[in-house]
Amino acid sequence: MKFYITTPIYYVNDKPHIGHAYTTIAADILARFKRLMGYNVFFLTGTDEHGKKIEKAAEELKISPKELADKNHIIFKELWEKLDISYSKFIRTTDPEHQEAVKVFWTKMVSSGTVYKGKYVGWYCIHCESFFPSSQVKDGKCPSCGRAVDILEEESYFFSVKKFKEKLSKYIETSNFIRPEFRKAEVLNALKEIDDISISRSRERVSWGIPVPGDDKFVIYVWVDALINYVSALGYPNGDKMSFWPADVHFIGKDILKFHAIYWPMFLEAVGLEPPKTIFSHGWWRVEGKKMSKSLKNVVDPFEIAKLFGSDTLRFFMFREIPFGRDGDFSEEAIRKRYESNLAKDFGNLLLRVSKFAENNFPEGVRKNFPSSNTELETAFDLWMEKMENIDYFSALDVIWNLVNLANKLMDQKSPWNLIKHDREKAEQVIYELAHIIKVIIFMLYPFCVSTCRKVSHNFGIQWLLDESSPKDKKDVLGFQEKFKISSTGVLFPKIEG
Ligand SMILES: [Zn+2]
Repeated sequence: MKFYITTPIYYVNDKPHIGHAYTTIAADILARFKRLMGYNVFFLTGTDEHGKKIEKAAEELKISPKELADKNHIIFKELWEKLDISYSKFIRTTDPEHQEAVKVFWTKMVSSGTVYKGKYVGWYCIHCESFFPSSQVKDGKCPSCGRAVDILEEESYFFSVKKFKEKLSKYIETSNFIRPEFRKAEVLNALKEIDDISISRSRERVSWGIPVPGDDKFVIYVWVDALINYVSALGYPNGDKMSFWPADVHFIGKDILKFHAIYWPMFLEAVGLEPPKTIFSHGWWRVEGKKMSKSLKNVVDPFEIAKLFGSDTLRFFMFREIPFGRDGDFSEEAIRKRYESNLAKDFGNLLLRVSKFAENNFPEGVRKNFPSSNTELETAFDLWMEKMENIDYFSALDVIWNLVNLANKLMDQKSPWNLIKHDREKAEQVIYELAHIIKVIIFMLYPFCVSTCRKVSHNFGIQWLLDESSPKDKKDVLGFQEKFKISSTGVLFPKIEG
């Protein structure tokens, strides 16, 4: 069973911010979940290193674009390491294999008869590297980013869309292609209005790109170059990983939905490849109510957040706070609240209480006594599976937290610290029952809080449960094991000063 997950490739002119972390964590959660379920997962991320934006940023720093990319792509890699991102491949669009694949892809598009040379006149935004029709440009400002736009006239290669519109629109209407569902209408409208796509740039204006095969007055439009990474990473056209195509999920931010949901499937169809199965576009994080922007100096640095609260807290917060797909509000206060109430109080305390009690009173381990099958756990597991399959992380975490609450209640009601005084066997049974619930919880929570769950799995002697290289089924997770040999987890989420 194969499963192919991607993030967008990120521009290297920028430092990674919380938005990059969001998309990439979302992809990682699904990758880890699918691996546990026995899928052969290919998880791709990387950097977009061509185009005018990179050229300009490098110019300002008085270095070459390649030097800028060499330097900056490493920052992304470092962040992914800090955030426990388990990608299979990190692609750079300056990789020679990628550039070769783009040329092959381009040549195939041309020979399919969908590319022609024409003239483009229009408003152009350097920042967005996009042309805009005058109907959308107000006061000389870019409709997408608000920066000043210029009139530009140049020869260009165009991709003719008319052959593809109807089929794509049917695909969108009848499939799971666009997620969340509420973005379908917006894509269908954009599709109706779309004109032929300019797919090249004159080399005079943009020199940092892949030359158009056979016509080096032009470079390939950076978006065409970038989108092709999803197949070049698999060894397009004939590499052995091409069997992973079509991608199961492209995770993206909602701002680049048009490129992924409209342009990309059309390009693919032109070269005879299937469209991706799902494009999941998420919303934006605002910061204390405001859009995150460099000029407002409110860009949240994920390195800082991870340093302060830990990677697991960031991974947990982003999907516990708002339904994935919607916009959310980021503030240090909000993340602190989640840390203190959910992670430290509900979860960390539970684990500490159970594990410490077990360590002190049952150093040889707690044995299976008379466990009765717990239908509550089974129902929760099934529901969690359904939510995870559906990329509804918010609801999946809800299911998990119900179990955390259940375990806390059980601990309080059955008070093993009293039982131990007169009925040791009963106390053991309670601890076994709690350990069993905790086992189910850490399995379900693992894709979100990777390192915490790994640590706890060691304390409970169940490391095998989180081994992604061997698949787990319901029986592994819900089955009763002979005994748990438990050591104290210590304080998992210590108080953060400041
Ligand atoms: Zn713009």
